[in-house]
Amino acid sequence: MTMSDDNGVVNHVAMLPSAGMGHLTPFLRLATFFLSHNIKVTLITPHPTHTPSESQLLSRFQSSFPQVNQINFNVESSLSTQSPNSHIAIPYFQMIDDIRTFAAKALSHLLSSLSPPLSFFVSDYFMLSSVLSITQSISLPNYVLFTSSASFFALFSYFSTLPSSLSEHETVEIQGIPPIPISSISPYLLVPNSIFKKVFIFIEDSSQITKFDGFFINTFEALEQQLLEAVNASKVLPGMPPLLPFGPFVPCEFEKEGDQWRKPLKWLDDQPRGSVVFANFGSTTEFGWDQIREIADGLVRSGIRFLLVVKDKKYFNEDDKKEEAGLQEVLGYELVDRIRDKGLVMKEWVYQSGILSHEAIGGFLSHCGWNSIVEAAWNGVPIFGLPQRGVQKMNAEVVERSGWGTWNKNWGWIGECLVKGEEIGDAIKVFMNKESFKIKASKIKVAARKARSVGGDCEVTLHKLFKK
Ligand code: UDP
Ligand code: UDP
Repeated sequence: MTMSDDNGVVNHVAMLPSAGMGHLTPFLRLATFFLSHNIKVTLITPHPTHTPSESQLLSRFQSSFPQVNQINFNVESSLSTQSPNSHIAIPYFQMIDDIRTFAAKALSHLLSSLSPPLSFFVSDYFMLSSVLSITQSISLPNYVLFTSSASFFALFSYFSTLPSSLSEHETVEIQGIPPIPISSISPYLLVPNSIFKKVFIFIEDSSQITKFDGFFINTFEALEQQLLEAVNASKVLPGMPPLLPFGPFVPCEFEKEGDQWRKPLKWLDDQPRGSVVFANFGSTTEFGWDQIREIADGLVRSGIRFLLVVKDKKYFNEDDKKEEAGLQEVLGYELVDRIRDKGLVMKEWVYQSGILSHEAIGGFLSHCGWNSIVEAAWNGVPIFGLPQRGVQKMNAEVVERSGWGTWNKNWGWIGECLVKGEEIGDAIKVFMNKESFKIKASKIKVAARKARSVGGDCEVTLHKLFKK
């Protein structure tokens, strides 16, 4: 299916991701989907990026797709705090602010000057209100890529209509969707006027959401059918523009870095099918070393083979932090000794999608970042959730509701209080032996592949979009 219109005019889309691997990765995966349907893509990104991992990913993307029109803009205040070789990540909130400043100053002119003229613009949901007035002023259709679940989208779109004293309630009840326990909502969202709310949920008025042309989301029907239906039937918010599932976003070749991604796969080649639990907790982590030690101890106690990826707090990839602690220092000598022969522990960036697709993997101990969940769904790997922050508990609930994984609600936000190795070990043993998770996860995988097949849901959605 090609995407030029009836007069042979090329369709052209501009995209503005937000900072962070968890945002850039889904944008690039969606861009790759557009490119594979002959849509011209202009990608607008800050320079320097929030982390070096992002700039490395962008340059690999550029090498794979030289036809993409890649536009960098300088993030001035961030530049002043970062020397080119410092490898210090630019503070996240500052970066978001800089992207917004750029949008206010230069986006209108940039978008209007692109050739051929744009069919539409795709912005990140972290910068909703900063772009709407701009695209409205130049009459450019504006879609938003929501990089989280439909479940969180429902809460997000409904948020400004909720009472400010939410913490006094036990659940948030939104029409058409399962009640959301207050304990699953980030404390940052429950505090009135928190900086987090100001920066991310800068929707003082939900009706603004209805002014966008639509929201793209990395999910698919089999994963979140009830939520997608409720939002699209305007049950959550009247006058809602379409919420268009383009998921699952498929991991791409350009994401592999050099040769290092092969290392854990070689180890996995020697392990029996479905025997290994893979533990990895996102591109950044909130865990302190004490919790990481308990997790490693739990994995050893479980008796299950494991592949554990350890990162320092706020560690992004190996180039981001040169003076990091060694594995022995993080885990302690005794634990490293006990791990011998039971599992592989890595303290570096791994190619997660590749690991999840390996047949030796039988389960995933995950922080429940949304990208990780969709990658696990794509590969049919059951999840045991250890949510740390943000929307991760809500994400864990999506998995639990669709029956291919679980999490322990009594453990709260992991990292807040210490969960001991004994408990973790017991939970992993039960999880890895649960047949129903495996069956459900295989079904999810089949549905995921179907949604992305030729003529599947994603192509149908794309086709409708351009017809419009
Ligand atoms: N990731 C990876 N290797 C790592 C850690 C993370 O490839 O060692 C990738 C992972 O596959 C996913 C993204 O980084 O695509 C993390 O996104 P997610 O939404 O799961 O979590 P976040 O890091 O945003 O909390
Ligand atoms: N963040 C935070 N507390 C939260 C949620 C997020 O400090 O409760 C910070 C987090 O460290 C990250 C940024 O806000 O740098 C974006 O967080 P989110 O989990 O929404 O990112 P994503 O998973 O989408 O990358």
